[in-house]
Order: sequence, then C-alpha cells, then structure tokens
Amino acid sequence: MLAVQDAPAYPVPDYGLAVLRVLEDAGFEAWVVGGWVRDALLGAPMHDVDVTTSAPWQETERALRSAGIEVHETGTAHGTVTAVIDGQPVEVTTYRVEGAYSDRRHPDEVRFVRDVREDLARRDFTVNAMAYHPNRGLLDLFGGREDLAHGVVRAVGDPYRRFEEDALRVLRAVRFACRLGFEVETRTQAALVACAPELDGIARERVGQEMDGIVSSGRMAWALRNEFEVVARAVPALMPMHGLDQRSPYHAYDLLEHTARVCAGVEAFAGGSPTQSLRWAALLHDVGKPVCASVDERGRGHFRDHQRVGATICRETLLGLALPHEVAGRAAALVRYHDRHLSASPAGVRKLLRRLDQARPGEAPALAYQLLDLQRADAVAKTLSCAQRAVELDVFERALSDELARGTAFRVRDLAIGGGDVMRALGIAPGPRVGETLSALLDDVIYGRVENSRDALLAWLHEKA
Ligand code: ATP
Ligand code: MG
Repeated sequence: MLAVQDAPAYPVPDYGLAVLRVLEDAGFEAWVVGGWVRDALLGAPMHDVDVTTSAPWQETERALRSAGIEVHETGTAHGTVTAVIDGQPVEVTTYRVEGAYSDRRHPDEVRFVRDVREDLARRDFTVNAMAYHPNRGLLDLFGGREDLAHGVVRAVGDPYRRFEEDALRVLRAVRFACRLGFEVETRTQAALVACAPELDGIARERVGQEMDGIVSSGRMAWALRNEFEVVARAVPALMPMHGLDQRSPYHAYDLLEHTARVCAGVEAFAGGSPTQSLRWAALLHDVGKPVCASVDERGRGHFRDHQRVGATICRETLLGLALPHEVAGRAAALVRYHDRHLSASPAGVRKLLRRLDQARPGEAPALAYQLLDLQRADAVAKTLSCAQRAVELDVFERALSDELARGTAFRVRDLAIGGGDVMRALGIAPGPRVGETLSALLDDVIYGRVENSRDALLAWLHEKA
C-alpha cells in the first residue's frame, strides 16, 4: 500500500483523466507525475499533464489508439509517447530508470521497471518526484510536499551522486529555485557548488535552455547573488564580474552586485514582464567591462568601448548557447547602446531610432522602449546621484512617443523622396551615389536641417548640387 496524502488544489483535467482511464482499463497502472503535481500542490497555474505508467510504450500507444486517441511517438527510445486530446498534449512515459552516465550527459540506456517507486527515485528533486492519482491520492516518497511547503529545492537521494550522474541537474536546481522562488537545501547547495565544474561537459544547447529558463524566471538577481558559481560556470563570460571594483565615483558596488541590481531593475521598470532579450541584455550589459578595464593616473577606472565589445561578447555568448538569433541580435543591440546618452530633442530621438534600425531593421521603436528600461535600471544600480537619470529618461520617453506618433523619419524609406528623384535632380545614373545622397539627406532631416517634405527635399538637393 502506497502512502496517500493531501490532494492538489485543483482536479486533474479531463484529458489527463482520459489517459489514466484508458491505461488502467487496459490493465496497467498510471499516475500523473512531475511538474503538474508540483504546480497543482502549489495552486500555481496549470502545467502540462505528464503521465507515468507501467505499460510499455507500445502498449500505451495501442491502448490509446484503440480508444480513438491521437498518439505521437515523441521519444520512444526513452519510453515516451504523446497523446493529444482536445488539442492538449499528454506525455506518457513508461516507468523507467536511467543506466550508467558514462559521458555525464545522456543516460547510456534507460531500463524500464515495474514499480513506480523506482521511477520516482530517478527524478531530480523531491518537489518533482511526486505522483498523483485521483483515487489513490498523492505518492510522495521523498518529502516533496514538505519541501514545497518550506520552499526548498532538495535532490532526491545523495546530491553529490545525483549531480555527478547528470551535471545538468546543477542548473535545473537553480532554475527551479528561481522559478518557484525557493531556496536550495544546504547539502544540495554544497553539492551544487562542488559539481558546477562538471557543467563544462554538458552540451551547450542544453545549458542554454536551462539558462534561458533561469533568465525568464525574472529572478536572475537572486541567482547571481546566491548561485554565482553555477551561473558563471554555465556562462563563463560572467566569471570576471565577481569582485571587479569599478574604481569610479559613479559606482557604489562591484560589477557583480551592480549587474544583479540591473537585472532586478528591468523587472521592476518593465512591470514584471521584460522581453527575454531585455533580460539577457541586463545580465550581459557590462560583460565587456572586464576586458576593457583600465585605471588612470588618478586611480579611476575606465572601460572605454565596453559597450561595443560587450555587444559582441553578448551575441557570441547567446549564439554559443544556441539561443535564437533574434534574441541574440536584440540583446546585443541593447548592450551596444546601454550607455548612450539620450537627448530628448526630436533630433536625439531620431538619431537613436536610426541607430537601432540599423542594428535591427524594423524593430527600432520596440527596442527603444526596452533600452529605456535598461538605462533606468542601470541608473538606479549605480549611486544615488545617478538615480536621477532614471527620471530624466521619462522625458526622453515622452519625446520618443511624440516622435513616433507623428511618424517621424528615421529610415531612408521614410524620406518624402526616393532614389529616382535623386537621380533626376542630380542627373546621375544608378549607383552608390544615390544611396549615399539619400543617407546624407536622412541625416539632414534627422538633425532638423531640412523638413521632410518633397518640395523642401528637392530644393535642398538642388541647392547642395
Ligand atoms: P517544467 O517543464 O515546467 O520546467 P517539469 O517538472 O515538467 O517542469 P521537465 O524538465 O519537463 O520539468 O521534466 C519533467 C520531469 O522529469 C521533472 O519533473 C523530473 O521529475 C524529471 N526530470 C527531468 N529532467 C531530469 C533530469 N535531468 N534528472 C532527473 N529527473 C529529471
Ligand atoms: Mg515539463
């Protein structure tokens, strides 16, 4: 008889119940397991339903199909098929344990087992290792419910052994702690730190996926302050931030604490939902500083060109983690301009939009608002005297909105004349000069030297010619 405890805060959805019923009618045992159980006990928003069962996957597939349920073979090597009911996917996996982990990345083999308890024991953390069945109740062999109640991430079994088996769990622990707002249990934490170097052997895209999960939790500040050994091992470009004294009257903190504050700042300024690019940009905005650091004769620190260098490191870091090109490109653009002085004049607004459009064509307005939140967060993370800058940025934001609302010109194609007009006016043939002339005209419009109307631009062209 298995231990039965408290129930989740809401019932298993119908599509999950249907899968349980079909498998049990076919003579197998089945449980809802993992993330759904954890989140349901927390009363948190619904998670996909994952089912674990004594049925071999071929039997699972047969039983579900004969009940008229759509099934996809999504991971049969690991015993997983996915049922789709009313458009809802339900992953169904045969009870299994993992074999030896010789490369510390992929389980060499999975071994299917008969007892759900063995399946639960191979899972990573106590809060992820619970099963639930509407009739049999909660199956919690490792104190997952209590750890949930106390807000603790704790490895199932000996943490050192579990992290040595699969170093990705080191990052997963941090991801769940961030996502759930939990602390890591003391022994699990000691094992995390000891095993973090093993992350070097994990495929970069898997590291990238977990890091992206940590970043999207919005609790990167916590991770930097509490799990720096882990995140810096996953993203080595962060390593030199620790203890980097900026030697500047504008900085009250070392680079690591400054960065943590900027990460927290973008959450606050973006109302809890910054874009993923902005979150990554916050983490990496000063990543160029350690490389660009110099100290002048008065002992003050300078970081010439760190925006440009940082943008390159940021892009390379994110692409190295196999994150999408758009995320890398946008984050790099934000890093590139995070320190730029923004002047709230119409020309200042147009100049920024032009730069951003050159970096990310078509995305300048959206990026400009994100850049504002990054700059605000950066300002309040320095010294009290710099925080005032965050208020000045509100003035810039109003100017930005005004300019955008009136359809201000910041791209060549926003000009009231085109290449044909330029060729006719100057009597020149197609060639690079046409583009150069248009680009120079755009500069003149941006700086307010000429109005963006057809007549004004043609007159201006003739005058210049
Ligand atoms: P979410 O998908 O919302 O991040 P989840 O709990 O579903 O949360 P998954 O990564 O989808 O997490 O994994 C599903 C379950 O499989 C986990 O709850 C855990 O029990 C188990 N699991 C996943 N990866 C590992 C691993 N590397 N080692 C041990 N168990 C794991
Ligand atoms: Mg999942």
